[in-house]
This record gives sequence, C-alpha cells and structure tokens, in this order.
Amino acid sequence: MASVEQVQSAEQPVTSENGAHAAPAIAVENPATGETVATVADLDRDAVAAIAARGRAAQPAWDAYGFDGRARILLRAQKWLMDNSDQVIATIVSETGKTFEDASFAEISYAANAFGFWAKHAGEYLADERVKSSQLLVKGKKLILRYRPLGLIGVIGPWNYPLTNSFGDCIPALAAGNSVILKPSEVTPLTSLLMAEGLRECGLPDDVFQVATGRGETGAALIDEVDMIMFTGSTRTGRKVAEAAARRLIPASLELGGKDPMIVLSDADLERAANFATYYSMQNAGQTCISIERAYVEEPVYDEFVSKVSEKVRALRVGRPEGPGSVDVGAITFPPQLQTIEDHVTDAVDKGARVLAGGQQPPTSGGGRFYEPTVLVDVDHTMKIMTEETFGPTLPIMRVADADEAVRLANDTPYGLGASVFTRDTDRGEQIARRIEAGAANVNDAMINYTALELPMGGAKASGLGSRHGAGGIRKYASQQAIVVTPRLALKKEPHMFPYKGRTSRFLAGVFKFLYGRGRRD
Ligand code: NDP
Repeated sequence: MASVEQVQSAEQPVTSENGAHAAPAIAVENPATGETVATVADLDRDAVAAIAARGRAAQPAWDAYGFDGRARILLRAQKWLMDNSDQVIATIVSETGKTFEDASFAEISYAANAFGFWAKHAGEYLADERVKSSQLLVKGKKLILRYRPLGLIGVIGPWNYPLTNSFGDCIPALAAGNSVILKPSEVTPLTSLLMAEGLRECGLPDDVFQVATGRGETGAALIDEVDMIMFTGSTRTGRKVAEAAARRLIPASLELGGKDPMIVLSDADLERAANFATYYSMQNAGQTCISIERAYVEEPVYDEFVSKVSEKVRALRVGRPEGPGSVDVGAITFPPQLQTIEDHVTDAVDKGARVLAGGQQPPTSGGGRFYEPTVLVDVDHTMKIMTEETFGPTLPIMRVADADEAVRLANDTPYGLGASVFTRDTDRGEQIARRIEAGAANVNDAMINYTALELPMGGAKASGLGSRHGAGGIRKYASQQAIVVTPRLALKKEPHMFPYKGRTSRFLAGVFKFLYGRGRRD
C-alpha cells in the first residue's frame, strides 16, 4: 500500500516508501495560487521494481477474496469517499486549481458511482461462460470461457482528473482480482495517495494498491514491471507507451487526446445548444479530453447561436476557487498548457479569427495561472485552434452551409474521441452521429456518455486503443482461458488418431464433405 510517507510538507526532506531509492522531491503546486502545497518522492527504477514485487506477492490472496469479498471492500470505499468527500475535494482542488464543482460533479460523483458499479458488475462481466460449439470433435464436452486476472496492472494517469482518470481506472482492475500500481501525473499525485489511505482504512490488504509517484521515467519503469498497462494521457506519450508495451508483449489500453466537434443544425433548440456549448467547452477550464473543442453551426442559426454563446461565456467568473459557488472557471493546471492555449489563440487571430470573449490571461491572477473563457469566430481549418488539441477554455465557432459540410469538417482531424449533434430531429441526429468517426457521439447532449458506465468509452483514430467501462472495460484486465472438459466415460481412442487407415480417412473426408461441401458455389 502506498503511504503518506510519500507526501511531505514543503519543508521536509523527502523519502520514498523504502527510503533507499529516494530521488529528489517533486514539489506539488496549487495552480490557483502558485504555492507549493506538498512534495512527493520521485521513485526510480529500483523503487518501482521493489513495489512491483510486493504487488505481485499480494495478488493471489486478493484474487482469493472472490468477487463478493472484493465487492465488500469496494462498497466500503464508496462509503469512505462520501464520508470524506470534503477532504478529497479539497485535495483535488489544491493540486489542480479546479473549482469545487468540477471536483465534486465530475470526480467525486464518478468515483463513488464507479465503486458501486464495479462492485456489482465485476462478477457478472467476468463470470465463466458455458459455450456451445457446432464442431463435431468437441460434441459432448464441456466448453468454458474463463476470465483470469492478469496479475499486476500498471495505471498511468493525466493531471486533469486525478480521481476520475487516474484512480478511476484502478477500480475495475482491482475488482477483477489484480494488484494495481498507479502512477499519477507528477503534477497531481496527492489525490491518488489519499485514495490509497482510504482503501487501507477500508480493509484492502497491504500492497494490493500502491502509488508510484514520479515523473515520466517512473511511468516508463512501471511499464517494464507490470502485466498490463492502462494509460490515459496525450497521444504523443501514448505512442511511447504502446511501443514500450509492444517490446514486452503486454497488453496496453490507451485513452488519448481529443478535438471533439459539436454540430448545431438549424432546427436545434438553440438555447439548449448554447448552454451546452458554453458548459462543455469551459467546464474544468476546458481541460477535459471530451470537452467541446470546436463548433460547426448551420448558416441560418449561426448568428443567433454565436450571440447567445458569447453572452453566456462573457458572464463566466474565472479565478481562484474559494469554496462552492465562488467561481465558474478555475485554473490552468499544467504550466505548459497555458502556452499552448495562447499559441492557438494567437495563431487563429493572426490568420483572421475574431475574439468575441476572453482571448487573454486575466489582468490579475493572484499568483495563479488562469485563462479567460474565450470565444472565437471567423475560424477555419488552417488554424491550430480547429485542428490541434487546445485543452483550455476556448470555443472556436465555424459557420457551415449544411450538415454534410459539418460532418466532413468534424471528421477532418486525426482524433476521434467524442462528438455531439444538436437537432430537434433526433432520428436525423442519430444518423449524423453514426457518420462521425469518434468513439462516442451524443445527440442533444455532450460528454454525458462518460457517466453511463455500461457503455464503452474509448477513442477512435489517434484518440486511443481499447476502452474503459462496460464489459470490455474490465475484461481487458483479465486474460481469457478456454477450458475443455471431456467426460469420464469417453472412447479410449478417437477415430482421427494414429495409426491412419485408408478406410477411416476416406470416411472422415466424406463426413467433412457432407458437413461443409453441400450446396452450390453461387
Ligand atoms: P501526458 O501524456 O503528458 O502524461 C500522462 C502520464 O504519462 C503522466 O503521468 C506522465 O507523467 C506519464 N508519462 C510521461 N512520459 C511517460 C513515458 N515515457 N512512459 C510512461 N509514462 C509517461 O498527458 P497529460 O498528463 O498532459 O494529460 C493530458 C492529456 O490526457 C490530454 O491529451 C488529454 O486529452 C488526455 N486525456 C485523455 C482522456 C481519455 O479518456 N481519452 C482523459 C483525460 C485526459 P508526468 O506527468 O509525471 O510527466
């Protein structure tokens, strides 16, 4: 189990869990204030190997708990999370600078739901399946498809949702009977360490869940130790992770970047569409993989939509979160992200875009890192803001002639994570959703597919490989085993065996012809 020994106040020297492998500390900054809130250990290769050995040793006993035993602990963890939600929210806010609402609505509620969901469904998704076969040679035998936990799972997560996207993927891995080592982003490790403490309180056996704090090198070292890697982060790092996993021939599930389009058709409920555009592009300061990153609006309603969205965005309050309801848009968590946002806005403006809201850092930031919620028009696909992941509080809106042009532009991207279509004609909306090359498409909504844990959530194209949630979201943490049981009363020898005899071979060839060779070759 990872421990609070990894978290220290800013003044203390840092030791890792086993002291011997301590490397220089990583300072964790509150992006809304610029203050260092803690330091954590930077685990090196040896430290990662040591905790991996402990995780492996702990796994068989955890597997032996069975689904019911593990579910009991997950349900306790659900309750622990609700009992301690103020502390967890404060921790998330302190290391991300996001608002209390972004921490509560999109992190606490997700994790609490996920604990219950996987406690309830892990056993059902991973239950043995009795399989029937038409194959003659296995007639009368018992065929079983069985899911066996892979052993030690590595989860590497990003900084934008320390609870949902880093810790969240550990829950099904644990429910499946694996030990897990989580490598959170170096920018936001504190929530993961707090969750490790929570799980310990809930009775999770030692070393079944451990946190490897550190930088990219710690993540790379983790891939070299585990039986499967679940990665969430940028497409650039995702490719490196896939290469490292391929070298070791271990499975990798990759949840990567996005550039989600929103399409607004002329028959849409414009007030709803404008509210959704505003919320789902600016929520979490736009630092969500499935944020609305660009909008395509049909000509007849373009002006009205732009005017509604601009007005709503201008009304948003950006700044340091002081408590629930204090601000709408929080900080930019990762320092280099601010440069990316500024670069995309500047590039768009240089190429002819107009800024209708925001477009800069707020004049006073109180030591924090913020960007004003920004609306851009007169944009096109020569601009980075329409083609590259911005990951900030920006919404470029483009006028299109019709739905076909909107679909063509929506698909004009290497990414394919999410999308949304707004129209009162829901059948048409569904048809358009099917034409978008993305892992998820919402009609008259956005992002909401993420909350339906029964549905797979994953990216198409450069947005990833594999998915979280649903049956596939837990089966990926298990290997499939086929078990074939021949009944006790069976022939001493089967007809296809040695010694080959002409008569038997001709008879079997005739049987194959009878089974597979009838009918015509049309
Ligand atoms: P990064 O790819 O920069 O980092 C992700 C994680 O990988 C971090 O923990 C990082 O450590 C670690 N890492 C860095 N280098 C390596 C390496 N060579 N081997 C193994 N691990 C490594 O992503 P960000 O943290 O910047 O996250 C933002 C990105 O995540 C965006 O592109 C966003 O779209 C995507 N994302 C995708 C989601 C999805 O579900 N598809 C959900 C949420 C975010 P460190 O931080 O310490 O460098």
